[in-house]
Amino acid sequence: MHKQRVFSGVQPTGNLHLGNYLGAIKNFVDLQNKFECVYCIVDLHAITNRQEPEELKSNILETIASFIASGLDPKKNIIFNQASVSAHSELAWVFNCVARIGWMNRMTQFKEKAGANKENASVGLLVYPNLMAADILIYKATHVPVGADQKQHLELTRDIAKKFNNDFKCEDFFPIVEPLISNEIPRIMSLRDGKKKMSKSEESDQSRINLKDDKDLIDKKIKKATTDNLAIPSELSGLKNRNEATNLISIFASVNGLKVSDVLKQFGGKNFSTLKSKLSESIIERICPIGDEIKKLLKDKKYLNEILTHGSKRADLIAKDNLKKIYDIIGLSKFS
Ligand code: ATP
Ligand code: MG
Repeated sequence: MHKQRVFSGVQPTGNLHLGNYLGAIKNFVDLQNKFECVYCIVDLHAITNRQEPEELKSNILETIASFIASGLDPKKNIIFNQASVSAHSELAWVFNCVARIGWMNRMTQFKEKAGANKENASVGLLVYPNLMAADILIYKATHVPVGADQKQHLELTRDIAKKFNNDFKCEDFFPIVEPLISNEIPRIMSLRDGKKKMSKSEESDQSRINLKDDKDLIDKKIKKATTDNLAIPSELSGLKNRNEATNLISIFASVNGLKVSDVLKQFGGKNFSTLKSKLSESIIERICPIGDEIKKLLKDKKYLNEILTHGSKRADLIAKDNLKKIYDIIGLSKFS
């Protein structure tokens, strides 16, 4: 039996948004009272796309501020940045040699992020899932709370763990992780295009609600959010093929802790402008206090750096110990 441990990460790519909060961070906060939790700012993942060095530095602080402002306790949880703990990269290399090229080629995130010009994408973007598997397995984490968009990468982490345990005849060395993806929380989609997920790295700021957006901006973005001309249906079947409508209703449900079917009962037959004004109110109530706290925390960089230093030391102790065991299984030794 493996000790139960939660691991999850967020990229410091700026603009933390409602999808990150509802799909991931809110869940992190709930889990901190039930598990030992390791929460990582995955800066090495961020550089799979080119980042401006100064911006990257400030985004790391912004992500940690967002964690704390959302309610994560830096004493209770291990909170740190990936680059501080070199065992992540070392295990990722091992997994580059365990995972198969065919597995990487099937990953939809790579296809989405690489776009039309795949040959020009970084090799890091292609092998990103191996680093993600290393992030999780270096702590032998058993549970991983992520948004629905990361489901495929978690399945790959399970495949890597199984193959490693099998190849090196060390049955049960790596746990087979359980995703913690809430059924109530769907992929939050872009406000401009219901087929694309809400994303930090999407160019258009209109496509997302950022945690730091103020009241007026949230209201404006929701008013402008794309919908269709039909009324809100009363039944789930009425949402078929209506991506934008489904998205707004799901966001309303998620922010208010309701089921989609309950929202349809409440708003069925009404038009979207009615829902939109209630939706703005609910988002503002939920997000603006977090945004204000982020802005306050960002004024105290010393405090944020202290959290990262303390968390990185705690993470490094666990990761180093596990890496030694992993190297030993493979037949690798460190002489320095
Ligand atoms: P990027 O565009 O740089 O990949 P991102 O918005 O996808 O940024 P990540 O840092 O990759 O954010 O993901 C952080 C966490 O937020 C992950 O657990 C991911 O599953 C979750 N997440 C990201 N986008 C969404 C979304 N639109 N809906 C629900 N969860 C999401
Ligand atoms: Mg992402």
